[in-house]
Amino acid sequence: MNKINNILKYLDEIIPDPICELNYNKDYELLIAVVLSAQTTDREVNKVTSVLFNKYSSLNTLKTAPVEDLIEILRPIGMNHKKALFVKQIAADLIDLYDGKVINDRKVLESLSGVGRKTASVVMTELFNEPYIAVDTHVARVSKRLGLVLEKDNVLTIENKLTKLIDSDKLARAHYQLILFGRYYCTSPKPNCINCKLNKICKYEKKTLLNSVFYTPGSSGFVSSSMIFIVLVYASAFSL
Ligand code: SF4
Repeated sequence: MNKINNILKYLDEIIPDPICELNYNKDYELLIAVVLSAQTTDREVNKVTSVLFNKYSSLNTLKTAPVEDLIEILRPIGMNHKKALFVKQIAADLIDLYDGKVINDRKVLESLSGVGRKTASVVMTELFNEPYIAVDTHVARVSKRLGLVLEKDNVLTIENKLTKLIDSDKLARAHYQLILFGRYYCTSPKPNCINCKLNKICKYEKKTLLNSVFYTPGSSGFVSSSMIFIVLVYASAFSL
């Protein structure tokens, strides 16, 4: 329990105001944006949704939009043929079955086109502040590196383990913090281990060795990278 508390404390320190980075003004816009975010980045989704929701500014216009036009608008984010059909079908179902509303119900959400467990969790967390954690690539990577879950764990197992580890009132916040930590700090190819205060408890075998060597428990816990640089310069000078 101490470990997860330390991790969350550090995430509070570096990501004090975690937010969803998908732009939206209406509930259904978030739902569609999350569906569109499969296999692409939030930044790319925001670019296309600014065009899409500007041109088709209601569920009715999305429902009746020419699919060829949606395919063209969604081209930059890939899987655009499939995603265009998802958008039209979601708009139609929300209008025809749910009075145009996004419902706070996992089963209902997961019955919509292109909506899986992860999308439903994101929507319920963001719109209704429900205590869910959506496991995307960032959450999975960070959880594995920090030893919160096992390398072999699948998405559902990771979700279950994190849900048990993190208090329900902190889940929604932790969800965004883990995503943003993975997106901007503990990135896939080049994690910023040298400045990461979780270095000591991190299980990632490729974490920067230099930082482990210079880790000093207590106080702030770390020697800064600039101090390390100075030490190396001095060491180098004395060896001459
Ligand atoms: S030490 Fe590196 S790999 Fe480990 S959590 Fe921090 S940034 Fe990620």
